[in-house]
Amino acid sequence: MNQQRHQALASYPAQSEEKSQEAVLRSERFGQSVFNEDRMRRYLTGEAFNSVKEASYSGSKIDRKIADQVAEGMKAWAMTMGATHYTHWFQPLTGSTAEKHDAFFDLLPDGRGIEKFGGSQLVQQEPDASSFPSGGIRNTFEARGYTAWDPTSPAFIYGKTLCIPTVFVSYTGEALDNKAPLLRALNAVDVAATAVARYFDKNVNKVIATLGWEQEYFLVDNALARTRPDLILAGRTLLGQAAAKGQQLDDHYFGVIPQRAFQFMRDLEQECMLLGIPVKTRHNEVAPNQFELAPVFEEANLAVDHNLLLMDVMDKVGGRHGLMVLFHEKPFSGINGSGKHNNWSLSTDTGTNLLSPGSTPMKNLQFLTFFITTIMAVNRYEELLRSSIASASNDHRLGANEAPPAIFSIFIGTQLTGVLDELEGVSKGRLSPEEKTELKLNVVGKIPEILMDNTDRNRTSPFAFTGNKFEMRGVGSKTNCAKPMTVLNTIMARQLEEFKAEVDSLIEKKKLRKDEAIFNVLREYIKASKRIRFDGDGYSAEWKKEAAKRKLSNNINTPQALKVLTTPDTLELFGSMGVMTETEIRARHEVELETYSLNVQIEGRVMGELVYNYVIPAVVDYQNQLLQNVSGLKEVFGAAHKKMGAAQLDIIQSLSTHLQELQTKTDAMIEARKQANTITGAPEKARAYCETVLPFFEEIRYHSDRLERLVGDAHWPLAKYRELLFLK
Ligand code: ADP
Ligand code: MG
Repeated sequence: MNQQRHQALASYPAQSEEKSQEAVLRSERFGQSVFNEDRMRRYLTGEAFNSVKEASYSGSKIDRKIADQVAEGMKAWAMTMGATHYTHWFQPLTGSTAEKHDAFFDLLPDGRGIEKFGGSQLVQQEPDASSFPSGGIRNTFEARGYTAWDPTSPAFIYGKTLCIPTVFVSYTGEALDNKAPLLRALNAVDVAATAVARYFDKNVNKVIATLGWEQEYFLVDNALARTRPDLILAGRTLLGQAAAKGQQLDDHYFGVIPQRAFQFMRDLEQECMLLGIPVKTRHNEVAPNQFELAPVFEEANLAVDHNLLLMDVMDKVGGRHGLMVLFHEKPFSGINGSGKHNNWSLSTDTGTNLLSPGSTPMKNLQFLTFFITTIMAVNRYEELLRSSIASASNDHRLGANEAPPAIFSIFIGTQLTGVLDELEGVSKGRLSPEEKTELKLNVVGKIPEILMDNTDRNRTSPFAFTGNKFEMRGVGSKTNCAKPMTVLNTIMARQLEEFKAEVDSLIEKKKLRKDEAIFNVLREYIKASKRIRFDGDGYSAEWKKEAAKRKLSNNINTPQALKVLTTPDTLELFGSMGVMTETEIRARHEVELETYSLNVQIEGRVMGELVYNYVIPAVVDYQNQLLQNVSGLKEVFGAAHKKMGAAQLDIIQSLSTHLQELQTKTDAMIEARKQANTITGAPEKARAYCETVLPFFEEIRYHSDRLERLVGDAHWPLAKYRELLFLK
C-alpha cells in the first residue's frame, strides 16, 4: 500500500466556507505597495519628481545627484512600509525573474549602524550573476554583467523588500535579459508609429504599445502533487491514465468557481491590488481545475513586469492555500493546455487607440493604416513571430493536436475582409473626386457600424483582430511576454517606417495628396499580405495543405522554429531597428536551444526515475499479491486453480508484457539521451533531443498508463488524474 498518496487523499481539506467580505475597497488598496506618482510627489523633491517623470516619458538620463535624491525618497517610503532590504529585480534569459537582496543596513566607520540607500545603489548594481545563461556573450570567468534601473516601471515592495525593476546587461552593453530588447522595441515602435500617426493628428508626440495578457493556469492540491516527481521537477505529468471523465461535458468552463480555488483567487487578487497589478477577470477554463486571470491592459513594459510578478505571487499565495499552481503549457495529456493570449494595440499620448475605428472617415483611415500595416508586418515576419513563442513546453500545444496551430494566420472577420476587398480595388495613382466620395461614404465611413455586428470570432486563430486590438493566442502560459512583444513591436516599427517612406515618396515624386498616397500604399499591402489572412478552421488538414501552398511556415517544434532567428533577414531587421545586435541574437538563439535540450533532458531523467522507482516497484508488488493468491489456490484446489485463477493469471501476464515493454523503451530512451548528450553543437543537440529522445516519451507513457489501469489502486504511488483534476 502506498503511503504518501493515500495520506494526501485522507488529509484532503474539506470545502471551506466563504470568508468575510473585503474590508477595504479595491480601488483604495490598489498600488499601496508601489512607489507610484502619488508617492513620488510626497517623497521626492520637485526636481527629482520631474526628472523621473521625464525619464519614464522620453527615456532621458537621470543625473547622479538627482538619483541620490530619488533613492533617499524611495528608502524613506520603503521604511515606512516596513521594508528592510532592496533588490534589483531583473529578467535573465531563463524566462523568469531574478533578485538578490541587500539590506539597507550599513556600518559607519565608527561602528554605528545606519540604514543607507544611495543613488549609486538605485541606478546600478553588479549581481554576481555569472551563472545566468548568456549564450557565450559573457564567459563565466571574465566580464561581469550589471543591472540598471528602468524608471519606466515603478519600484514596489514585495514581502519586506523594495524591488527596483532593472535591465541586465554586460559591461560591453549587450542585453543579457528579456527586458532590454523589449524597451528598445517599444522605443522603435514609438518613433515609427508617432511619425505615421502625425499624418492624421499633428498633436501626437508619443505612441505606446499596450498589452493585456490572459493568464491560464491549473490548480492542484499540493499534497497530491508532491507524490509526483514529474509535477515537481518538470511541471507536467509525464505519465497518467486519463480519468474516466475529462472535459467532454463542458461542465467546468465558465462554471461556478470551486470554493477552494475561489478563496485562492480572492487572496491573490488582494495581493495584486497592493502591488498595482490591475487584475479584473477570473473564470474557470475549459479543462477541469483550469482557470484564467486577466487584468486591465497596460503599457506593454509594465504589463510584462506585472505578469512576471503575478506568476510569482500566484506561486506564493497558492502555497498558503495548499495548492500548486501549474503554469506549464500542457500539464495533463488528453485535456486542454494553457496559454497566455497577448492582446496588443498601439495608443497615442492624445488618448487614441490606433487600432480602434473612429467616428470620422479620417479616423477610420488612420485605423485602416495601422490595421493593414499590422497585417503586412505579420505576413512578412510570421516565422519570426512564431519563433518568439517556441519552447519545449509550448511545443505540446503549437503544432500538436491543440489550438492554436503552429502556422501563423490572421483572422479579421467577414466585415473587415469586405472592407479590404473594396480597398484593393482603389485606382492606382490619383483618385477621381467620385471615387474619393465613394470611399469616404461607403468604405471608410462605414467601419464603426459594421464592426459592432462583427461577433463571429474564430477561437482557433493564432492572431485575431477582436474589435479594437489584435490578440496573439499562441503565447504559452509560462512564456515571458517580453519575447513575443519584442518581435511584434519590432516588426510593426519596421513596417510603419517603410509605410511612411512609401507614402512620402508618392506625395513628393508622384505629387499625390496625402490620403491618395495612403490609399495607394494600403492597396499594395492588402494584395501583398493576402496569404496570411485565413478565416477557417486553423486545425484542419486542408488548412495545412493550403498553408503550405501559400508558403507559410509550419514549424512544429522548437529546434525547427528557432532556425529563423539567425537568418540574414532577422539579423538585418533587429540590427537596423536598434533592437538587438547580431551578437545578442546569436546568444539568444544559443540560450533558447540549450534551454530546450535541458528541458527535454530533465524530463527524460524524471521519466527514468518514475519508471524504475515508482511504476516497476508498484507493478511487482501487485503482481506478487496476485501470484500469492494463485499459489494459494493451487495449494488448496490443486489443478482446478488454473480455471479458478484464470483472471489473475491473465492479469499477471498482461502486467509482465507491459512491464517488459516499459523497461525496454525506457532503456532505449536513456540510451538515446546519452547519445544526444555527446553532441556539442547547440542546434544539433536540440534536434537530437527532439527527434530521438522525445518520441520515446509517448511509448513509455502508453505502457505505464496501461499498467496503471491494471494495478490495484492501493498499490499505485502516483496521484491519479482523477484526483489531481476532479477533487475540489
Ligand atoms: P476576450 O478576449 O476574453 O473576449 P476582452 O475583449 O474583454 O476579452 O479583452 C481581453 C483582454 O484584452 C483584457 O485583458 C483587456 O485588458 C485586453 N485589452 C482590451 N483592450 C486592449 C487594448 N487596446 N490593448 C491591449 N489590450 C487590450
Ligand atoms: Mg481572449
